[in-house]
Amino acid sequence: MRDAECIFCKIAAGEIPSKTIYEDEQFRVIMDISPATKGHALILPKEHYANLYEIPEEVAADAMKLAKKLAKKMTDALQCDGFNLIQNNGEVAGQTVFHFHMHLIPRYKNDGNEDKLCWNHVELSEEELEEIHQKLIK
Ligand code: 5GP
Ligand code: ZN
Repeated sequence: MRDAECIFCKIAAGEIPSKTIYEDEQFRVIMDISPATKGHALILPKEHYANLYEIPEEVAADAMKLAKKLAKKMTDALQCDGFNLIQNNGEVAGQTVFHFHMHLIPRYKNDGNEDKLCWNHVELSEEELEEIHQKLIK
């Protein structure tokens, strides 16, 4: 299924040109237009799924297998020092394009993102922590 309004559907289908680094029947992997670091790329399924909640388990599993393969290939090619695999779901979580994608972000010493690709820590009481724990094991 495709979404006629979705830019990543058009890019994945090759209707809008992109710098593609990998393509198969299921996925296209493109260079991010506004990269966090040198080599930042995005895995796009060719079918439209808005997010992790919608994507079928098998496609998600294949996307993860591809991420592993590309992490190795990109690390060898770019000689990066580390790697972030990021996947945002929902506006509140930082998603801006509502077509499932995985960010492949090569990391380099002193790449200027040391303090950015992380989060603040919340203070939780033992009771709050336990309440959340209970919700998650129901
Ligand atoms: P999100 O914030 O939804 O997780 O990530 C969306 C990503 O897509 C951003 O990193 C943004 O730079 C990238 N992006 C948005 N529009 C385009 C586009 O038209 N072409 C490419 N190559 N990347 C895009
Ligand atoms: Zn789409």
